[in-house]
Amino acid sequence: MLPFGGQGTNQAIEDGGAIGFLLVNVDNDTQLPQRLQLFDQLRRRRASRIQILSSVRASRESVVEEKIKPFMEDGVIFPNSFPARVSHDAGFDVYARSQEMLQLLFNSGDGEMFLDHQTTSSIKA
Ligand SMILES: Cc1cc2nc3c(=O)[nH]c(=O)nc-3n(C[C@H](O)[C@H](O)[C@H](O)COP(=O)(O)OP(=O)(O)OC[C@H]3O[C@@H](n4cnc5c(N)ncnc54)[C@H](O)[C@@H]3O)c2cc1C
Repeated sequence: MLPFGGQGTNQAIEDGGAIGFLLVNVDNDTQLPQRLQLFDQLRRRRASRIQILSSVRASRESVVEEKIKPFMEDGVIFPNSFPARVSHDAGFDVYARSQEMLQLLFNSGDGEMFLDHQTTSSIKA
């Protein structure tokens, strides 16, 4: 991540938010691999896109479009302009996405607890 993208610290903060959220109510280490896998799914592609984007100036995104393709995901539009890049980089809610992923895990029957409103509010605080 090159420093002038102004995203290195943001990604570190998002990482911290995601790991804090995704490890909620883990009470034994057998739950850890599944939760860490969620963290990887949530963070790897987004952080990789931003890492690659940080190598080009705003409005030059098309230069790295091919490089970014393996890291695209459903619901994400390739940011091919300055406003689109701001929206891609700054318009991401790491808590909301973490909550969605945990909910999917619990709904699949593999999860070990129900994530209620009180629990998620206390994590965000
Ligand atoms: C010159 C420069 C300018 C930058 N400017 C910006 C900017 O303007 N905006 C921006 O968003 N980002 C900027 N960045 C990037 C940003 O600083 C990093 O992306 C961010 O700090 C990464 O956070 P991190 O927690 O992943 O890693 P780090 O902040 O590097 O933290 C890792 C910590 O782990 C510790 N550690 C490492 N190994 C061990 C070990 N074996 N045992 C115990 N502790 C260990 C280290 O001492 C360190 O404290 C800049 C980076 C540089 C170098």
